[in-house]
Amino acid sequence: MFKTLKDVDVEGKRVIVRVDFNVPLDEKGDVTESDKIAASVPTIRYLTGKDCKVILTSHLGRPGGRVVESLRMDGVAKSLSKLLGLRVRKLDDCTGNDVEAEVKKMKSSEVVLLENLRFYEGEEKNDRNFAKALASLAEFYVNDAFAASHRAHASVVGIAEFLPSCAGLLLEKEVKELGGLLEKPRRPFVAVLGGAKVSDKIRLIENLLKKADKILVGGAMAFTFLKARGLSTGNSKVENGSVKEAARLLESGKIVLPVDVVVADRFDASADSKIAGSESIPSGWFGLDIGPESMKMFERELGKAKTVVWNGPLGVFEFDKFAEGTLQLARFISKSGATTIIGGGDTIAAVKKLGLYGKFSYASTGGGATLEFLEGKKLPAIEALEKSKLV
Ligand code: AMP
Repeated sequence: MFKTLKDVDVEGKRVIVRVDFNVPLDEKGDVTESDKIAASVPTIRYLTGKDCKVILTSHLGRPGGRVVESLRMDGVAKSLSKLLGLRVRKLDDCTGNDVEAEVKKMKSSEVVLLENLRFYEGEEKNDRNFAKALASLAEFYVNDAFAASHRAHASVVGIAEFLPSCAGLLLEKEVKELGGLLEKPRRPFVAVLGGAKVSDKIRLIENLLKKADKILVGGAMAFTFLKARGLSTGNSKVENGSVKEAARLLESGKIVLPVDVVVADRFDASADSKIAGSESIPSGWFGLDIGPESMKMFERELGKAKTVVWNGPLGVFEFDKFAEGTLQLARFISKSGATTIIGGGDTIAAVKKLGLYGKFSYASTGGGATLEFLEGKKLPAIEALEKSKLV
């Protein structure tokens, strides 16, 4: 296990904190959704409370190793200043003489934010020199970016080799919540999986089959499974390369598939639609949402559950007409007495659309990282923290 902030003495130190401030910006460069920024505020406050000099660092978007003006961190610093109630200075680079000089001048409890890490190629390449240059700014390293921890990048992996390191409060919380879920879930434990690609989620399903009592499958994924059962799926999105794998997973007997679906005559927000039984999807039609009988069946399973994990929309929720399954599921789970954990960008977007964010036991901030953690993979950044022997 890695060290946490409570295990280490950071009092008065210069601390570099990797946060995930990869947030959406408007055309003026202002932050439009600040939840991810707010999620690291407890760690920042903890450190300022210990008189640390706090150097924050994050990536933003995909500049691909060069400076992209629209991806500078100024709007992020503005948003963070508001959330913290103190002025966060943004520096115009993340390494180099100017940054070093600025960092040396910092006073206790001051917070600065470095420029976008991904302006440097070395970040995504986990370049040793880049990691070392970042590390040279501080005396201690804190990783609070769970959402970036599935990537072997310099600011989450390489850096931990050069500084005493530990997990921030957010990273600690994510690992505790998700780890606890896999180790000793309250039963019945029901997972709901949706979204587009089965191939992306095979490892996840495999790992969850070992832990969960039932897996309810919706979204486009369901059609690959229905095909594996030998049913006709019309023009619905099927991954032919994964049908065999889906058939193997079905042998577990734990996977529950929709019994009816909303089908549309074309893939369009204003397509004609009707309900069809899963065994009688008309040829030429597209399955774009789960049907009402399936919803009832899912609700029966979820009503008994003591632990619920949900990842991925049950239909093409971007089109209002085919969002009902996803939205109804969000409403149902939000009222459940079970421990409810949701994850994934689309899932969280659907929940926010309904104003239900905050109504779940836990909403995981990391899309890809959450999936990989639930797949049972060791995340490279967490391994790096565990190996950091310098504390
Ligand atoms: P993922 O990134 O795998 O979680 O997939 C999310 C995407 O799955 C969303 O953009 C949905 O529109 C899409 N999706 C969900 N259900 C269906 C469906 N029945 N047919 C096509 N796309 C779907």
